[in-house]
Amino acid sequence: MSTLVIKDLHVSIEDKEILKGLNLTINTNEIHAIMGPNGTGKSTLASAIMGHPKYEVTQGTIEIDGENVLEMEVDERAQAGLFLAMQYPSEISGVTNADFIRSAINARREEGDEISLMKFIRELDKSMDFLEMDQEMAQRYLNEGFSGGEKKRNEILQLMMIKPKFAILDEIDSGLDIDALKVVAKGINEMRGEGFGCIAITHYQRLLNYITPDHVHVMMQGRVVKSGGPELAQRLEAEGYDWIKQELGIED
Ligand code: ADP
Ligand code: MG
Ligand code: MG
Repeated sequence: MSTLVIKDLHVSIEDKEILKGLNLTINTNEIHAIMGPNGTGKSTLASAIMGHPKYEVTQGTIEIDGENVLEMEVDERAQAGLFLAMQYPSEISGVTNADFIRSAINARREEGDEISLMKFIRELDKSMDFLEMDQEMAQRYLNEGFSGGEKKRNEILQLMMIKPKFAILDEIDSGLDIDALKVVAKGINEMRGEGFGCIAITHYQRLLNYITPDHVHVMMQGRVVKSGGPELAQRLEAEGYDWIKQELGIED
């Protein structure tokens, strides 16, 4: 089992403090949902975990099994088993999707232990079938001309192929029609298991109809202010966030 521990995390963007003492612990074999109103710092949390240079950690710690993530470069974080699906996946011209995935897999392996081309192609075909993706997607340049739904599906393909210890999925459900949403959820559910932990950031409960989280956390004003089980997400869906604000005496 692996554990990702975030303690008292403070993060600033351009000297404005966005995260203000966030605590979160997640183990492999667990799926956590983070919900919260717009602008509360959910995406900031994802970017800080992955080491985006614009996000300055001013206080607190992030550790995987006691290893200091904050001292790692972005590629070292990926090697340590972190995976980030970005809210707005970027296009990379000149690199095919298949090449990108293969390099990402090999980056996590020792020299001399690279995945064989045959095995890679076999696994890629299998995963693409599972996600009902067109085989042609593998040879296209990364994210170039992909529709919103294709990009999201493709991120789940990357996830299934790269097999990280921890995935942070930022609004993987946004802009998806119901069929694409089901496929995305199917992929995440397939990953669920001993070596895999997931933080699914979502503004809506909709995704959680298809992925039952073990823990639900509410973020407000740069902190996790409430945690519970799946029933918490259902209450948020029914009643919104006002009751939590009242409970905690938070002003808008
Ligand atoms: P959420 O994902 O919960 O909607 P974000 O983490 O995107 O929230 O944003 C939190 C706050 O940080 C917002 O007030 C937003 O305007 C600000 N912010 C986010 N990214 C940047 C940025 N790159 N530059 C300046 N401000 C930013
Ligand atoms: Mg927890
Ligand atoms: Mg966001």
